[in-house]
Amino acid sequence: MSNLPAIVIVGASGRMGQMLINTVLSSDKARLVAVTERAGHAWVGQDLGQMMGGSANGVLVLDDPKVAFAGADAVIDFTSPEATLAHAALAVDAGIVHVIGTTGMDKAHISALDRFAQQTPIIRAGNMSLGVNLLTKLTQKVAAALDEDFDIEITEAHHHHKVDAPSGTALMLGQAAADGRGVDLDAVSDRGRDGITGARTRGDIGFHAVRGGDIVGEHDVMFAAAGERIVLRHMATDRTIFARGALRAALWGQGKKAGAYDMMDVLGL
Ligand code: NAP
Repeated sequence: MSNLPAIVIVGASGRMGQMLINTVLSSDKARLVAVTERAGHAWVGQDLGQMMGGSANGVLVLDDPKVAFAGADAVIDFTSPEATLAHAALAVDAGIVHVIGTTGMDKAHISALDRFAQQTPIIRAGNMSLGVNLLTKLTQKVAAALDEDFDIEITEAHHHHKVDAPSGTALMLGQAAADGRGVDLDAVSDRGRDGITGARTRGDIGFHAVRGGDIVGEHDVMFAAAGERIVLRHMATDRTIFARGALRAALWGQGKKAGAYDMMDVLGL
């Protein structure tokens, strides 16, 4: 039991934090050694089991990730871009695998993470589910097979709490479509049209975000030409798919050399 990889979950009270905690606690391949929340959060210093609405389990919620990471094997991080960067520096110091599900990263965040990945394995994906990673692969293949007679439009829908748009997954799908077509995504992205936009530019990749209720996550990639349309769709109905994928990544990362990895590497796609 004690030889199982030791996992830390940061952002314990979050929607994904709690899902990750339950996933690790119910796994027979890993053990939960510590959880954190940001300093000043009501959960800090309290018993995790009780904070999650159950009975006490003896795990205290920490506010110092440095203490939490000491002696661990991996940290799973679905927090905010700023918190994730701070965690990355500490994961390097502790020499542990850093699994990152946090979205909303800009280019500066990603290049900082790439520098940390020279020193420890970092596995980062805007979506950790097997289905979406398959969808990404399919998007790349379909985009490579079709020419610019097919307009590519990516539509995503998420719950009303989500703070960033388009979703990390939508951007991942857009990147796959651009890679398949051999174009630079930044040069062809057209995000959230509004007003008199003029006719669609041939070759653009459009992004649209819907927000409402408790939608876990839906993504459509549409290839529309004169006379026909292909739509690739993924619908997530339960967040456990992301948590299971993240734990799988943390286990896969054990013994890997430093580097920037994604779920395609983990799933061998
Ligand atoms: P959430 O409910 O807001 O959870 C984020 C948690 O992180 C909160 O508990 C927050 O605490 C905590 N946090 C912020 N700064 C922290 C710090 N410095 N140290 C420790 N904890 C800190 O959001 P969510 O729905 O779980 O999503 C979290 C992230 O995961 C988002 O970026 C989301 O897009 C992403 N996500 C990714 C996937 C994927 O498969 N890659 C799937 C689902 C979600 P406070 O509330 O006190 O700030």
